[in-house]
Amino acid sequence: MSNTPASILSSPIEYLHGISAIRGDMLRKELEIFTWKDMLDHFPLRHVDKTRVDFISGLSSAKEYAQVAGTLISLEIVGVKRARRLVGQLRDKTGIIELVWFQGIQWVEKSLEIGHLYLVFGRLGFFMGKPQLAHPEMENYTPDMSAGKSLLEPVYPSTEKLKARGLHGKALGKFTREIIDRISVQDLPENLPKALLDKFRMIGRFDAYRYIHFPASEDQYRQAVRRLKFEELFYAQLGIQLVRMERLRFSKGWVFEKVGTLFNDFYENHLPFELTNAQKNVIRDIRKDTASGKQMNRLLQGDVGSGKTMVALLSMLIAADNGFQSVMMAPTEILAQQHYNSISAYLDGLPVQVGLLTGSTPARERKPILQSAEDGTMQILIGTHAIIEDKVQFKNLGFAVVDEQHKFGVAQRAQLWKKNSLPPHILVMTATPIPRTLALTAYGDLDYSVINELPPGRKPITTSHKTEHARPQVMDFIRQQIALGRQAYIIYPLIEESSKLDYENLMKGFEEVKSFFPEPKYWISMVHGKMPAEQKEVNMQRFVRGETQIMVGTTVIEVGVNVPNASVMVIESAEKFGLSQLHQLRGRVGRGAEQSYCILLSGSRLGQDARERLKIMASTNDGFVIAEKDLELRGPGDIEGTRQSGMLSFKLANIVQDRTVLEAARDAVEDLLNNDPDITFPENLPIRQYLQQRKDKTRWARIA
Ligand code: ADP
Ligand code: MG
Repeated sequence: MSNTPASILSSPIEYLHGISAIRGDMLRKELEIFTWKDMLDHFPLRHVDKTRVDFISGLSSAKEYAQVAGTLISLEIVGVKRARRLVGQLRDKTGIIELVWFQGIQWVEKSLEIGHLYLVFGRLGFFMGKPQLAHPEMENYTPDMSAGKSLLEPVYPSTEKLKARGLHGKALGKFTREIIDRISVQDLPENLPKALLDKFRMIGRFDAYRYIHFPASEDQYRQAVRRLKFEELFYAQLGIQLVRMERLRFSKGWVFEKVGTLFNDFYENHLPFELTNAQKNVIRDIRKDTASGKQMNRLLQGDVGSGKTMVALLSMLIAADNGFQSVMMAPTEILAQQHYNSISAYLDGLPVQVGLLTGSTPARERKPILQSAEDGTMQILIGTHAIIEDKVQFKNLGFAVVDEQHKFGVAQRAQLWKKNSLPPHILVMTATPIPRTLALTAYGDLDYSVINELPPGRKPITTSHKTEHARPQVMDFIRQQIALGRQAYIIYPLIEESSKLDYENLMKGFEEVKSFFPEPKYWISMVHGKMPAEQKEVNMQRFVRGETQIMVGTTVIEVGVNVPNASVMVIESAEKFGLSQLHQLRGRVGRGAEQSYCILLSGSRLGQDARERLKIMASTNDGFVIAEKDLELRGPGDIEGTRQSGMLSFKLANIVQDRTVLEAARDAVEDLLNNDPDITFPENLPIRQYLQQRKDKTRWARIA
C-alpha cells in the first residue's frame, strides 16, 4: 500500500501541547525523539502508583524509590563552585526529607515555591542517616489528585539536561497521554497475523501501545510488554532471514562437483588422526554448500584447539580437486606462518602447491608466488590480508578461508569479490565462542556451523585463582615447569592502547620477572602493542622456536598462536579482563600432550563481578558455557565482535532474559517463510503492509 496517507504519528513533536521549539530541539538531541511515533516508542522505565504515597518517617534504605507528599518548607542555594547545590526541605506529618539539586539549579529554584504542597518522586538515598532525594521530580499536589487518573503513572528515561528543563521522567507522560488520546487503531495497525496473536495469546498492537504507557494493572502492563517484545524480535529475525533468503535466491557460486583424488588420498593415507564427529559434520555442511550452485557464506565456530585448521584444509583440497584455487587468511603474520607450516607438513608428499605471502615476504620470493597464483599452479595460498591486495591475481579462485573473523571487514570481503567472475565460497572461522542466542540474532544471515567437541585425549587445563601475595610461589612453579622443558606465558592487562600506566605496569612486571629468571640461565621474550611489528615478530618467533622460555606480553598474543610446548599461562591482574578474553588467553596453553596450567593472579579485594568471573574460569574449560556466562554478566552490547552489528540493540527485548521470546519469534519467522516465502497469503497481509510501510527506512524490506 504505497499510497498510505501520512499518519498523524509522523507529526513533529512540536505539535504537542507544551513542546516549544527549544524543548523540541532538546528532545531530538537528547533522546532522538523527532515524531509522535518516536515519543510513543520511548517506553517507560517503570510505573509509580500515584495513590501510594510514602510517609517520610517510614522510609528505609531498603527502598530504592520514594514518593512522598508534603509542604516545601525551605529552599536555598548552598556551597560554592563544584559543591554548589540547591537544597530544599519537605515536610509531611511524619517527618522531614531533604531534596537536593546539583544541576539546573536556577531553573528548579524558579519553578518551586516555599509553602506549596508537592508530590515528590525520586531515587532514595541516605545522607548521615537522613533520607534524601537527589533531583526528584516535583509536581503540585492536591490530596484527591489521583481521582479519575490511571493509578499507574509512567516514568520515562530522561537525561540531566532534559530534567533541568522540566522534562523529567514523569513529565514526558503528559505527551504520550496526549498522543494516545488523539490516535486511533488505524494509526497503529496490527502487524502480526491473527493466528500468531491467538497462538501466543498476545494482545493487539494498538492496545499494547496504550497499555505499555498507561496500564490499568500490572498484568496489563506485562501483556503489553510481552506483545511488543515479540513484535520487536519477530521483525528483527524476519529482516535477517529476508536478507539471507535473498542471498540464497540470487547468489551464484562455483560448483564443486566432486570429491576427488587429492581429498581421498589425503583422507585415507595422510590424515594423522581420526576426525571428530563435529569436524565430519562441518565438512559435510561445506561439501553440500559448495555443490549447490550458490555461494557459501559460512561461519564456523569452534573453541580453541577444536581443530578448525583441518576443516579448512580438507575444504581447500575439495576446491583443488575441482580445479579451484584457495586462499587462507590470518590476522597476523605469525599466525599465517603457523598455518603455512602446519598445512605444508600435513601435505608433505602430496602434489599440492602451497605458498605463503605476507607483508614481509621479500620481493624476490614474492615474484614467483604472484606468478603461480596468476597462472593457477599455486593451489593454496596462505597469508595475511596481503594475499587479497589488488596486485595478487588468481587464475581461478574458488574458496577463501578467513581465520578469526573480527579482523575481517566489509572492505576485505569486497576485495575478494573482485578476484574472479563469481565470488569464492567463504568460510569464516572463529574461536571466540558466541552463544547460540547471539549467533541466531547477529549472524542469522550467515550459515553457521559449530565444532562443539575437542579431539579426544586432551588434558583439561587446570585453572586456579591466586592473589598477588602468592606470586613467589607462582614463579617457583614456573621454574619447575621450565626445568621440565616447558615454556610459560605471563600476561599483563592492557586496558587502553594508549594508557601510560598500563605500559609502566608491564615494564615493571617485566623487570620483576627478570629478577626471578636471570639471564643467561633463562631468556625472556616480550611483546606489546607499542612495539614495531618487526620486533614483535622477532620476539614472538624466538618463543615459538623455544629460544626463550618465558613470554611476557599484553593481550596482543591472544589470537590463535600455537606453541604446544607452553604449559603455563599466568594472567596478571586477571580481574581486569573479561571472560572471553581470559578464555582466549587460556587457550594458548593446553595444546600439547602435557598437563597445562592457567593461573589467574588478582588483588585480594575484588568486586562481585570480578570474583564471579574468576570463579567461572576456574570451574570450566568450555568456551560456550563461558560465553553464555559472559553474556549474562555483561549484557550483549559488550560481546566482542557484535558491538558494531547493531542487530543486538533492542528497545525492549533483552536477548539474555527474553531468550524464550526470541526463540518463539524465530520459529514463527521460520514457519512464515517456509509456508509463504513471498508473504502473499491474505492472512499474512498485516506483515506485508507493515514491511512496505517501513520500506524506505529499512534495508531488508525488498520483497514485492
Ligand atoms: P583451532 O580450532 O584452535 O584452530 P587447530 O586447528 O590449531 O585448532 O588444532 C589444534 C590441534 O589439534 C592441532 O595440533 C591439530 O593437529 C589437532 N587436531 C585437530 N583435529 C584433530 C583430531 N580430530 N584428532 C586429534 N587431533 C586433532
Ligand atoms: Mg586456529
